[in-house]
Amino acid sequence: MRIDLLGSGAALPDPTRNHTSIIVTVAGHHYMIDAGHGATLQMMRQNIDPVAVNNIFLTHLHYDHIADLGFFMISTWMCSRQVAPTVYGPGGTAEAFGHLLEGGVYDADIRARAQYPLRKKNRHVLKPEVRLIEPGVIFEDERVRVTAATVDHIPPEICDCFALRFEADGKSFVYSSDTRPVAAVEELARGADLLVHDCTFPRTALEFRDKVGVGTSAHTSPFDLGALAQRAGVKALVPYHFGHFDATNPVLRKHLAGHMPIEHVGPDLLEEVIEDIRKSYDGPVHLARDGLRFDL
Ligand SMILES: [Zn+2]
Ligand SMILES: [Zn+2]
Repeated sequence: MRIDLLGSGAALPDPTRNHTSIIVTVAGHHYMIDAGHGATLQMMRQNIDPVAVNNIFLTHLHYDHIADLGFFMISTWMCSRQVAPTVYGPGGTAEAFGHLLEGGVYDADIRARAQYPLRKKNRHVLKPEVRLIEPGVIFEDERVRVTAATVDHIPPEICDCFALRFEADGKSFVYSSDTRPVAAVEELARGADLLVHDCTFPRTALEFRDKVGVGTSAHTSPFDLGALAQRAGVKALVPYHFGHFDATNPVLRKHLAGHMPIEHVGPDLLEEVIEDIRKSYDGPVHLARDGLRFDL
């Protein structure tokens, strides 16, 4: 099983980190988790053919996890995709696609391109089959099994949010999605070969956000993540979904100023992340970055 991180940032426009998206590859078959901005282009950079991605798992419908869907769907249609992808997602996923493609945002584009016989022929690929994620086993083929667990990130009456465990060839990979530290992820991640987990803000940023009253509770601190990973006995850990606290870009720093102690924002905070995880977790820690690849 191979894991490719296509994006490692949180929701703001960050020139060094795409939004969330991960490709799991088993025996040459690709499975995509989330489709934040930059996902399709990053696949190209990593020599992963987006046309060959036929199963998509959306953990929740925050825009930093789905912003690339329109680009992915239409650009792979143009690259002569022949199979409509199957999309697994929370309630609201079918409606989101309904508003996006034919009859939605890209309706004129699709009708214009479908004038060409070649595009007309594979227009069916723009109608993905959408299946609802519920806790438990959500997908199984001859290569991989995927299990979902509910996490705690946004109010469920707005959107459910799921962590996912992929198992193949005796190896396991768990992705927490965005979440507070929850027992369900600890259970799902028990003994996993690799855990990629929300670690949106380091301690220094959390303390600042608490003081100024910006939301902090929907994510996991490095300290809590280290403790969770140690209890779960995961073999390697990737703190993930970085909230731009290492930014050096002046425009991004300007916009971060109300959210974070800007004098501390910069690559040094990555050291603080490691330090706080190390207070409990003694396995290998790999800081997330776009393009990071793991072979399990
Ligand atoms: Zn997010
Ligand atoms: Zn989110």
